[in-house]
Amino acid sequence: MERNIILGGGIAGLAAHQRLKENGISSKCYEQDGQCGGLCASFSIGGFTFDKFVHLSFTKEDAVKDVFSASTEYITHQPEAMNYADGMWIRHPVQNNLCGLPVKEKVEIIKSFVNKPEADKIGNYEDWLRAQYGDYFAEKYPMRYTRKYWGVHADEMGTDWVGERMFVPELEKVLYSSFVTSTDNVYYAKEMRYPVKGGFYAFIAQLADTDDVLLNKKMIRIDEKEKKVHFSDGDIVAYDNLISTCPLPEVVDCLQYADKAVREAAGRLKCTSGYIISIGLNKQKSFPALWFYIYDEDILPARVHSPSMKSINNAPVGKSSLQAEIYFTGGKWTEKQEEDILNQTISKLISIGLFSEDDVEIKDIRYMKYANVICDQVIDKNRKVVTEYLDENGIITAGRFGEWRYFWSDQSFLSGKRAADVLSERISKRN
Ligand SMILES: Cc1cc2nc3c(=O)[nH]c(=O)nc-3n(C[C@H](O)[C@H](O)[C@H](O)COP(=O)(O)OP(=O)(O)OC[C@H]3O[C@@H](n4cnc5c(N)ncnc54)[C@H](O)[C@@H]3O)c2cc1C
Repeated sequence: MERNIILGGGIAGLAAHQRLKENGISSKCYEQDGQCGGLCASFSIGGFTFDKFVHLSFTKEDAVKDVFSASTEYITHQPEAMNYADGMWIRHPVQNNLCGLPVKEKVEIIKSFVNKPEADKIGNYEDWLRAQYGDYFAEKYPMRYTRKYWGVHADEMGTDWVGERMFVPELEKVLYSSFVTSTDNVYYAKEMRYPVKGGFYAFIAQLADTDDVLLNKKMIRIDEKEKKVHFSDGDIVAYDNLISTCPLPEVVDCLQYADKAVREAAGRLKCTSGYIISIGLNKQKSFPALWFYIYDEDILPARVHSPSMKSINNAPVGKSSLQAEIYFTGGKWTEKQEEDILNQTISKLISIGLFSEDDVEIKDIRYMKYANVICDQVIDKNRKVVTEYLDENGIITAGRFGEWRYFWSDQSFLSGKRAADVLSERISKRN
């Protein structure tokens, strides 16, 4: 019988493991942390439950909906978000909700739409933004937000990832929205699901409930010729087939024989890291929206959401919570810097009126090395060099950081499932 290994117990690794089982193939899944779930994991502090970043499910894929709803009861939210920019709260997306803005700002935005440049030369995301919204709007809102969310300037990014994510209104809609507040909700998802209890992780917890998923197993080396994986606890496991959902740059770092070109290409794959700042409040507060985006540069978080609005069970009775997300490129900050950022962020959120200092019951800051894959102009070229080498060596990759794509949880799930099907087909052809 062939020995099948999956590296990483996030949603992609767990989906691969489950799919292999459905295909009648046994496998072992190795997760470096003491808990499965990766970015889809949840954690608890003092009776408050938090996720790692916002996390709501807006999948349209029945295969994913079925797995999620078989795991837990869920709440359905309408995707109503807000923006905070320059002291103003604006319904999301700004381009379709101008009504509350000062007249001068509305006029500038409308002029921006009317005078937008021709869309004939789109070389990068900045060109795309200018062509859709005009210079004033592009610079004031999405380009400013890009620096906070993606950690790079919009001209460094490509456009393949945009899809439905950015709403582009016709001029008529922009004009209507400057007079009336009753604009359509144009968010790209029509509903968002969230578990009643247990945080986002409850959607996938049952996938991890098997003895074949092993925790605290950090892969540190792969001998791709001998087909052996080394773990940090000294274990060496031989395999016939390997699916990796670990971040590509880390996998390449651990390969024994990859040449300079592969290592350099992996080194050029860029992503943001993140800090999540979780705040438990000792009373029930109401917030402007389930989540909101912050454009101001002097407030570090790019987005804030309320876990207790996602589910009241995420906070003890009579209490509420918020979580702020800070993105950056570069390494982890020192403990002192982390503490300063935690306190500075709380002060800023107090200054915009979300809660007061006396309301804070718990506060926590956590570092996430891998947040968003940066879809820059050279991503395709570098990703190809790395994945071709892995493929030549029989290593199948899956998931957000295994495929190195800007995947939502459902896409990561399906990527894991696909990897398992590829492997199943290879096994069946050999036997
Ligand atoms: C800011 C943010 C917000 C998001 N919001 C949403 C949302 O609202 N809705 C949505 O659907 N999706 C959302 N996503 C996307 C979603 O989190 C990802 O698509 C998904 O969690 C990726 O799953 P994965 O299994 O591919 O990767 P991961 O979750 O990263 O899992 C990889 C696993 O591999 C393990 N691992 C890594 N290295 C090793 C090693 N050397 N040895 C062993 N194990 C290892 C890790 O510990 C981890 O558990 C969001 C992502 C971010 C960053």
